[in-house]
Amino acid sequence: MSIKIENLVYKYMTGTPFEKTAIDDVSLEIKDGEFIGLIGHTGSGKSTLIQQLNGLLKPTSGKIYIDGEDITVKGINLKKIRQKVGLVFQYPEYQLFEETVFKDVAFGPQNLGLSDDEILKRVKRALKIVGIDFEKYKDKSPFDLSGGQRRRIAIAGILAMEPKILILDEPTAGLDPKGRDEILEEIRKLHKEYNNTVILVSHSMEDVAKLVDRLIVMYKGKNILTGTPREVFKEIETLEKIGLAVPQVTYLIRELRKRGIDIREDIITVKEA
Ligand code: ADP
Repeated sequence: MSIKIENLVYKYMTGTPFEKTAIDDVSLEIKDGEFIGLIGHTGSGKSTLIQQLNGLLKPTSGKIYIDGEDITVKGINLKKIRQKVGLVFQYPEYQLFEETVFKDVAFGPQNLGLSDDEILKRVKRALKIVGIDFEKYKDKSPFDLSGGQRRRIAIAGILAMEPKILILDEPTAGLDPKGRDEILEEIRKLHKEYNNTVILVSHSMEDVAKLVDRLIVMYKGKNILTGTPREVFKEIETLEKIGLAVPQVTYLIRELRKRGIDIREDIITVKEA
């Protein structure tokens, strides 16, 4: 499913002395099946942007089309939009509330009015994607599990809705390096298998650049760079200015340029030291 954003503006607390423009005239397109990294520092507007993509926040001005349908018009069916656009919030584990893992993951699909068979199938599939053993965990309380496991279960709850567009806001926040790599690997596999549109929100270039097809870089509410990781990394000066440069990559690009060689695709797979 595609997304098209036209001249989007979002202001918090409009008409008060505290008015704050969080999204400042952003226009962009995301194609069906693209894997996008939405990147920028804290406060650059990432969360504000994605919350408008499933109707949680209503734009101050501008348009958003999901698969050609304008979701900013009055009276739009938000339930239908949220079925298409699944949003995993930061620290989603805090939203778990059912007494068993099964019930928690099944909550969304149940609201879609699906048959018990279909719900069971979806819960199993979603737990498998996030690497949680169905038989072993289905009757356990999410609250008896580790933080990393709780996060996987919360992500599975959104996956079980089978959204055509999946948005994950900092899914690795607060996890140790192992937990972070595992979640990112699961997201990569999920996208490969289902080829749905995925937007991975992050403030870390290292996390996303080696996974995604395209990066959308936000700075002070504006989309200042868009392109493949390779294209974006070429803009070393801009990335350094906004504090998103990966030092090893920047160093390599500079050294290569001194020798008259352009950036190679494999440079972007440089991992953190
Ligand atoms: P990010 O997700 O990139 O960290 P946000 O979208 O959360 O950025 O924030 C963008 C800007 O909007 C920031 O300046 C932030 O302080 C401001 N902001 C976010 N939420 C609110 C809010 N509820 N009320 C007022 N200002 C907000």
